[in-house]
Amino acid sequence: MLAAAERAWGEECGVVGIYGDSDASRLCYLALHALQHRGQEGAGIVSCDGGQLKGITGLGLVSEVFNHSKLSKLPGSSAIGHVRYGTAGDSVLKNVQPFVAGYRFGSVGVAHNGNLVNYNELRIMLEDSGSIFNTSSDTEVVLHLIATSKARPFISRLVHACEQLEGAYSLVFLTEDKLVAARDPYGFRPLVMGRRSNGAVVFASETCALGLIEAEFQREVNPGEVIVVDRDGVSSLCLMPHKERKACIFEHIYFALPNSVVFGLSVYQTRYRIGEVLAEEAPVDCDVVIAVPDSGMVAALGYAYKSGVPFQQGLIRSHYVGRTFIEPHQKIRDFGVKLKLSPVKEVLEGKRVVVVDDSIVRGTTSSKIVRLIKEAGAKEVHLRIASPPITGSCYYGVDTPSREELISHKLSIDETCAFIGADSLAFLPLERLRGMLGHSAPTFCDACFSGNYPILPKHLDLPPSGVDTRIKEPVVLPVA
Ligand code: SF4
Repeated sequence: MLAAAERAWGEECGVVGIYGDSDASRLCYLALHALQHRGQEGAGIVSCDGGQLKGITGLGLVSEVFNHSKLSKLPGSSAIGHVRYGTAGDSVLKNVQPFVAGYRFGSVGVAHNGNLVNYNELRIMLEDSGSIFNTSSDTEVVLHLIATSKARPFISRLVHACEQLEGAYSLVFLTEDKLVAARDPYGFRPLVMGRRSNGAVVFASETCALGLIEAEFQREVNPGEVIVVDRDGVSSLCLMPHKERKACIFEHIYFALPNSVVFGLSVYQTRYRIGEVLAEEAPVDCDVVIAVPDSGMVAALGYAYKSGVPFQQGLIRSHYVGRTFIEPHQKIRDFGVKLKLSPVKEVLEGKRVVVVDDSIVRGTTSSKIVRLIKEAGAKEVHLRIASPPITGSCYYGVDTPSREELISHKLSIDETCAFIGADSLAFLPLERLRGMLGHSAPTFCDACFSGNYPILPKHLDLPPSGVDTRIKEPVVLPVA
């Protein structure tokens, strides 16, 4: 994927939890590597040893935050970890998770993927009753709700806290004697459970993390479920009110790695099929199919297969332009895309090119990519997008620009094509995406395409179901 600075459609976060392995923090470290694509701003691990929680967090990639000596300071047989994506203003060390807090009956660590839509209300309520906040992250309200709950024991406090949360959360908690995983009743963000051959229990945002640490996938943490792991074994509580499941379809289109199985579906197979459908929906006479690497790759393979046109690598992505790349000033900003993507002249020169990308957000990156391909000598550039047009912001843990900045909110497909400078432009139709999902389509959230928001932040007017009404400018909520 392109770096967030260019991509605007920000990655989310990744969480991991391990119980029952003497190498818990090292396994956490490896699992976080596998989840690095979900966030590059910061990383952290908290482990429990002898009833004491110890944590290390830092800004940067997992490999930059941790080394051998730091990991050796995190002993114990249970641990939780987090990779964070954050907007620029939020990327301060104190916002990097896991967070740890002490309360009357002990300590608790938490790592969160998602976004709470009632964060503002909860924070005001807690501050009115005397809570003092240390961060600008919505995750901190979870700790305050646990600390101030009158329920006993810990699990009842935790469930009581979760019952007050609205929005998206896949959470892992660590206490002196327990690892707990919880997922919001809609199940917006993924969370899976696996086991290592020594019996250690693992929770992770994606199955690709299980694979790396040789844990066998067991099942998803179900929406609304709380799973407790302690010395008595694994127990499941389904205490939160049942809602219709709304899993984020964008996990399949963009976020998750193709080798993951997310919400019970192979990401690779979904993307490949999307490419095939795009070829059926928007065929064009062309000589070569290329992808915008990495997230357009699998859909491009599907498009090429279905259309019978060879796939070639027309754009090479640099793996060495990191998230710290700073575009020096406006005048030479365009170098950003050129640094990240290099055209292969031999593939493109004189050709009619289909280029497949995962999505269009503001349209500026797409126009630079089309220009790059044309400058390399392509005769025609036909852009095929492996998602429907994005017309609305996300409130469930994906850092999107405001609705007014989304090109598909402002312009028709023809106008977008003209803006981008492509010879033709086609998106995956929303009906075809839903058709691919079959009877499970209603269990997916597609609000950023359809406007059907399952739940909105309290201060926004709730549109009637299925109606894409004008939504006011969203407030900037911290992204977990
Ligand atoms: S609004 Fe879009 S990105 Fe957000 S959860 Fe729904 S499908 Fe995913």
